[in-house]
Amino acid sequence: MWIAAAGEAFPRQETEDDMSAIDDGREDLARWKAEQPDNFFTADVVFRHALQRLAGEETWASLRPRLEAFGAQCATEMDAAADVNNRPHNLPLLERYDAIGRRTEGVEHHPSYHVVGRLIYESGMMGEYAEPGGFLRSLAFFHLSSMCGEAGHNCPVACTAGIIKSLQALGTPELKARYLPRLLSRVYAERYDGAQFLTEVQGGSDVGLNAVRAERAEDGTWRIHGEKWFCSNADADLILMTARHDEAVGGTRGLGLFLVPRLLEDGSVNAFRIRRLKDKLGTRSMPSGEMDFEGARAWALGEVEEGFRSMMRFVINTSRIYNAIAVTGIARRAAFVAGGYARHRKAFGRRIGDFALVRETVDRIEASSAAIALGTWALIPMMDAAEQGGLSDEEAAFLRMAINVNKRRSSITATECALQGIEVLGGNGAIESFSILPRLLRDAIVCENWEGTHNTLTAQVLRDMHRYRLHEAYVAQLRRRFASLEGGPMGAWASRGARAVDGLEGSLAEVLTLDEDAASLRMRPLMDRLAWVLYASAMAEQAAYDAEAGLGDEVSRLLAFYADWRGI
Ligand SMILES: Cc1cc2nc3c(=O)[nH]c(=O)nc-3n(C[C@H](O)[C@H](O)[C@H](O)COP(=O)(O)OP(=O)(O)OC[C@H]3O[C@@H](n4cnc5c(N)ncnc54)[C@H](O)[C@@H]3O)c2cc1C
Repeated sequence: MWIAAAGEAFPRQETEDDMSAIDDGREDLARWKAEQPDNFFTADVVFRHALQRLAGEETWASLRPRLEAFGAQCATEMDAAADVNNRPHNLPLLERYDAIGRRTEGVEHHPSYHVVGRLIYESGMMGEYAEPGGFLRSLAFFHLSSMCGEAGHNCPVACTAGIIKSLQALGTPELKARYLPRLLSRVYAERYDGAQFLTEVQGGSDVGLNAVRAERAEDGTWRIHGEKWFCSNADADLILMTARHDEAVGGTRGLGLFLVPRLLEDGSVNAFRIRRLKDKLGTRSMPSGEMDFEGARAWALGEVEEGFRSMMRFVINTSRIYNAIAVTGIARRAAFVAGGYARHRKAFGRRIGDFALVRETVDRIEASSAAIALGTWALIPMMDAAEQGGLSDEEAAFLRMAINVNKRRSSITATECALQGIEVLGGNGAIESFSILPRLLRDAIVCENWEGTHNTLTAQVLRDMHRYRLHEAYVAQLRRRFASLEGGPMGAWASRGARAVDGLEGSLAEVLTLDEDAASLRMRPLMDRLAWVLYASAMAEQAAYDAEAGLGDEVSRLLAFYADWRGI
């Protein structure tokens, strides 16, 4: 808005002083831009040190040069291509027929989409899953590419990982031989990617309402009929989906897990139609459609009666960890953008970062993005250990609860970081062409709402507390983590952490005495606190390692700020 100063009917003539102020202001912006990372791996010190600690010497030594090269690609070519791809005129378009009218159910992508895809898949991140485990190695690459936002491929990569895990665990030798090599491939033109469809128009959280049917065919395969309402990566090579194998069995017990290839053996398109692509708030360069299945050929993965359980075990936990890394990338990127801006932008003759209010906002972005990064990364070696049978019962119970607690809080934090980053940039923060922040904000909001809404996750944690007393393992694990700091450089956190865990334990016990409504309301703030204490423990562990390894005290300083802010 332009408001003329009193007595001025028209803007003044620009003087030399005005011109030099304009030049100076623009130069500050140029310096901010020039100082943005040209390598996300070297720039994200918190992530780098965490990986060094968690990977172990051998894995770290082999990953490091690859990540360094990939981090540079992400910050340069990939980021530029994702930016171009997300311009409104370059978004995916539905192309249901080819030139001569044959049905293709295809999606036309701008070339920039494939630039991003080639870099992601050719990093070899999917191939890391060739052996059981592989989460740590694969997600290290994903952490870096996520700093470009969804970029058209984050959701597909997560879905592909879920399909690989399901096939490895449940697939017949024939299905494994047919699909795994291309799912694991690093050759972009050859690789298969995946999609996962659960949600129907009548409900996404309440998957037990699924009405899409699966009918067994004479040859032992299945035919899928019905409508799926949210179908991301709509042009995926392989779809993993829920469908009702027995209409007489209601709820989630009647759901099987099915693999539906896009193309049949003869090269024709399987029996489904994409009605339309959705016009979305975020994740816009990734096509999400609505689809009708009209007898699509499918294979059951595992026993059909076990479908929902398999989905939760191999797919949903994988997706929720992917979601947490995706939003961590968003939050860490917001920290780079906003932190740099505060160092260069001036107002009233001072750098804006010198104002206490701006400084506090930037500190919050930096500390909370580091908190979710370290909290999420603390869980990833456990994901690998779980697959290799290396978790105790207590650790497995802790992991199950922590994944849900962390999915919720990490995505809220990413939205906060992107939003606060926009605040630091002022009016420029609201401009799509000025920085990545508006797109990161939109992507983060989507990440809050898929893979389990906040309330669904809260309800699941509460149910798990009642049914399996998972909170006891959660509390016990946090207690162990803080206790292990005793006598080390972060020794003060042994008792401070123990007090925080005592507080959690009391609140959790109280929730279990409440009726359903009261318990769910009490759980909402408690879900935050469960996450914050987890993050503090992960930060303290990292700070102790950094001190012992001579890697500086950045995490220790971030923890001091974060813990005071969160009242831990
Ligand atoms: C861009 C985008 C892409 C997507 N892609 C896919 C995809 O590829 N595959 C797929 O399967 N799904 C996909 N989804 C769907 C997503 O997973 C669902 O939107 C999500 O699970 C929520 O379901 P719903 O939208 O039906 O909301 P609802 O389940 O109708 O929920 C509405 C509100 O009610 C609340 N609520 C529901 N149950 C409870 C409860 N028990 N207690 C308290 N509150 C409750 C929810 O938290 C929410 O606030 C996508 C969503 C988006 C936005």
